[in-house]
Amino acid sequence: MLTIDPLVEPPNARLDLPGSKSITNRALVVAGLADGESELAGVLFSEDTHVMMDSLQKMGVGIRQNLNGLSVSISGTGGGLERPGETLWVHQSGTTARFCLPLAALCGQEVTIDGDEQIKNRPHEELCKALQSLGAQIEYLEAPNSFPLVVNGKDLQGGQLSLNGGISSQFISALLLAAPCFPDQLELNIDGDLVSRPYIDMTISVMQAFGAQIQQVNDRRYVVSPTGYRNSRYEIEPDASAASYFFAAAAISGGSITVEGLGSRSIQGDTGFVDIVEKMGAKVVRSDNALSVTGTGSLIGIDASMKEISDTVPTLAAIAPLASGPTVISDVAFIAQKESDRVTALITELRKIGVQAEKTETGMVIYPGDVQKGTIHTYDDHRIAMAFSILGLVVPGITLDSPQCVAKTFPSFFDVLDQVRVAGDAKLSILAIDGPAGSGKSTLAKQVAKQLSLEYLDTGAMYRSVAAVALAQSASLDDEAEIAEIAERINIRFDDGRVYVDDDDLTEAIRSPEVNAAVSQVAANPGVRSIMRRQQRSWARVRGGGVLEGRDIGSVVFPEARLKVYVTATPEERARRRSLESGRSVEDIMEEILQRDTKDSTRGDSPLVADQEAVVIDTTGKTIHETSDYIEELFSR
Ligand code: C5P
Repeated sequence: MLTIDPLVEPPNARLDLPGSKSITNRALVVAGLADGESELAGVLFSEDTHVMMDSLQKMGVGIRQNLNGLSVSISGTGGGLERPGETLWVHQSGTTARFCLPLAALCGQEVTIDGDEQIKNRPHEELCKALQSLGAQIEYLEAPNSFPLVVNGKDLQGGQLSLNGGISSQFISALLLAAPCFPDQLELNIDGDLVSRPYIDMTISVMQAFGAQIQQVNDRRYVVSPTGYRNSRYEIEPDASAASYFFAAAAISGGSITVEGLGSRSIQGDTGFVDIVEKMGAKVVRSDNALSVTGTGSLIGIDASMKEISDTVPTLAAIAPLASGPTVISDVAFIAQKESDRVTALITELRKIGVQAEKTETGMVIYPGDVQKGTIHTYDDHRIAMAFSILGLVVPGITLDSPQCVAKTFPSFFDVLDQVRVAGDAKLSILAIDGPAGSGKSTLAKQVAKQLSLEYLDTGAMYRSVAAVALAQSASLDDEAEIAEIAERINIRFDDGRVYVDDDDLTEAIRSPEVNAAVSQVAANPGVRSIMRRQQRSWARVRGGGVLEGRDIGSVVFPEARLKVYVTATPEERARRRSLESGRSVEDIMEEILQRDTKDSTRGDSPLVADQEAVVIDTTGKTIHETSDYIEELFSR
C-alpha cells in the first residue's frame, strides 16, 4: 500500500528519465543478432528488460553491463542463436514473449518458452500462425496459441506473409526484427486495421541503425533482405511513455516539467502525448533535445483518438476528471488485452473515487467531477499504478494497493516522482544529521529535536528493521529482490522511543550483533533504499519537517534541507562510546564500525559522504549539549 503525497508547490523540474523500454528491448535483440561487439548506451534496467537480457543470454548472446552502470556491451551471435539449455521464461513481458518467438525459431532446434499467467492470457495466435506459415513447427503444451509452447525452426524459411495488424503491433515488430537473419527475404503484408504504427517505425529505425535493409513498398508492405545485422554503438532515448506521467503532472499542477533527451526527432510515438496536453490547454515547448510542458491552471476535456499512443491512455484517463468538460478516448478497444483489461480497469477505478466514466464502443468517456480519496487496485499493471500516482499529486488520499508493479518498466518511478516534489520539500523545516557509525548522531539528533520542538526520525533503525526481519525469515541477503520485497511489505512504526514492525516490538532486536553485521548489506540494496527514502520523505512531509538522522539525509533524501550537519568523531572515540553503551570490548566494536563505515561509504547507491553544503562537526571531546546548542543556533539563523 502506498498513499501518494500531494504536491504542496507546483513543480519546476528538469528530469532525466530512464531509457525507453521499447527501444531497449529492440536494440538488445538486434545487437544480439549482429556480427561482433555492440555497445548500447542509455539502457533501461527494469523487469521487462532483464527478462529480455536473460532470454538472449540463454540463446548464446554475451551481455555485459559496463561499470558506468548505464551502458551494455553485447557480443552478437551473427544470427547463429544457440538452443537454450532450459526453458525461456518470459515472465509478464509482452515484448520478450513476442520477440522471442521468432528468435527461438532461429535456433533451428526445439526451444520451450513459458511465462506467467498474465502473459498466457494475452493474444499470441497471429504471430504463432505467421511463424508456422514460414515453416516453423509449434507444439502447444497446454492451450492452443499460448504458452508454454515448443518452437522448432529447423525448416524455417523466409517468403511471403500476411498478418493482421489490429491486435498488437508487437507481432509485426517481432517478425521484422528476426527477418534479416532468415534464410530468405521476408515480404510482410499487413491486413486490416493497424494499431500502434509508431512502434513499427521504431522497430525499423533500430534495425536500420544496425545495417538492416528494409524496403517499405507502401505503408502496408515491407520487404526485409536476409543481410544479417552489423554491430554498432547505439544510444537509447529516455522512455516517452514514462515521460507522459510527468507531462501530465505539469499540466494538472500548473507547474513546469522538462524531460531531457526526448526531442522533436524522437523515434517514440508516445512523445505525441504532449499534443494531447497541449490540446487540453497546457503550454508545450519542443526542441531538438527536450520537451517541456507547463500547466496553465485550466484544462479542457477533449476527444482523443489514441490508437497510435495507446500506452498513454491510462495517463490521460487519470487526469481527465480534472478537466472542465468530458474527455472521450477512442480507437483503443485493443487495450483490453494489455497487462490488464485497461478499459475496464480504468473505468472501475475512476468510479471508485467518485468519477463518472463509461465504456464506449472503442474506448471510454470520462466526466469532470469532484475526485474523492480512495484505494486504487493496480491489477498488477504498472501503467495503472503510475497514472493514478499522478492524480494523487493533486488529489489527497489516493492510495495504491500494490505500488511495486511499477518495476516492470520504471523501477525508479517513485524516486523521480519525488523530484517533482522538490520545490515543496524546500519549504519543510528539515534538519539533516548524517555521519558514520557511533559518531553520536542519535543522541545528538534526539536532543536537538527536543530543543527545536521537532519530531525525530532514526533512519538507521528503518534499515535495521528490514535487516532484522530478513534475518528472522532466513532470507538470503544476496537476493536483492526478496529483501526489497520485505522492505515494501513491512510497516515500521516509531512510538515513544520504541520501534515496532507490524506490531512486534523490535527495539532491542534491531541492535543485535547479527543485525549490526547484516545491516550494511541490506542498506546497500538499491531497491531497499528507494523504499526507505520514499517513507522518510513522506514522514517529514506530513509533519512539515523534522530532524532526520542517517547516512544520506542531506546528500540524497532532502538535498534541499534547511540545515545539513555531518557529525564525526575519531574511530577510537566512537568505539569507546558504543562500548560504554553496550558493555562490549572497544576492540570488537572498533572492528565492527570500521567495517560498516567501509561498506557504507563504498556502496554504489547513496554512499556515506559529507554533503558539500553540510556543516562538519567533530564531536571528539565535546559534550552533547555543546554540540546541540551549536546546531540549534545554526538552524535558527
Ligand atoms: O545509524 P545506524 O548505525 O543505526 O545505521 C545502521 C546502518 O543503516 C548503517 O550502517 C547504514 O548501513 C544504514 N543506513 C543507511 N542510510 C541511512 C541510515 C542508515 O544506509 N540514512
